[in-house]
Amino acid sequence: MVNKQTKTMAKVKPGWDGFSLKPKREMPEGLWIACPSCQNMLYKKSVEENLDICPECSHHFRIDGRKRIRQLADDGSFEEMGAELVSSDPLGFSAAGKNYAERIRSFSEKGQNEAILVGKAFIRGRGVMLSVMDFSFLGGSMGMVVGEKFCLAVEKAIEESLPLVVVSASGGARMHEGVVSLGQMAKTSAALARFDESRGLFISVLTDPTTGGVTASFAMLGDIIIAEPRALIGFAGPRTIYETIKIELPEGFQRSEFLLEHGFIDMIVHRRDLRSEIGRLIDYCGK
Ligand SMILES: [Zn+2]
Repeated sequence: MVNKQTKTMAKVKPGWDGFSLKPKREMPEGLWIACPSCQNMLYKKSVEENLDICPECSHHFRIDGRKRIRQLADDGSFEEMGAELVSSDPLGFSAAGKNYAERIRSFSEKGQNEAILVGKAFIRGRGVMLSVMDFSFLGGSMGMVVGEKFCLAVEKAIEESLPLVVVSASGGARMHEGVVSLGQMAKTSAALARFDESRGLFISVLTDPTTGGVTASFAMLGDIIIAEPRALIGFAGPRTIYETIKIELPEGFQRSEFLLEHGFIDMIVHRRDLRSEIGRLIDYCGK
């Protein structure tokens, strides 16, 4: 049986919403994006041309690894290493009907080989060893390949006396690899201890979000730690902490600005200044 209200709504012309009688906002898909910070509708192309920063409020959108390299390294200077490394799926992991090995395969078919890209590059003419995490690959999680590629970059930086620049974006250790992924925290930290003995310069750049095992290992071991504005940086997420200890967290907790105020990081750098700031720091440290 059709009730009175449904009858009324059925008379409304398609394209109109039945309550306010205002035309629906129809926008071509993919051309516009909503800024999660100021809620403005933004023309996607204008955001991309602005280094993926909201022109209205300076919100820094998350970007994938390849784009980060294009924004940071001098044109065409990135020489990738370790692209052939693939996880061996040590646990034969599968959850919620999704098989880990198949997921890895589908990423590689799309041209993404892991949650980190490493290689030699130039930033404003200075040679560096660049490691960039990719949050779009399984939440930038750290598994055996991330650990191995990271160490490969560190060893190469020692060998060639290059400064190490690491851009982190991660949800933490990769649960699909169980304890093997946790082992990467020790492995990457040990590699950095060797790098430190060789008196290398390590610039760690934290972007939104940098959490879990990555925060608890290499990301926080930089000689200089830079963060992008308003990035979420922490170990457990704010919701997990609240649910565990039932205490309201302070305003802005785990954001870059809060961490700078409390001495966890050295500086906050706007994305448009990141290249010049890294170049300046390398010069300043005489590397
Ligand atoms: Zn905005």
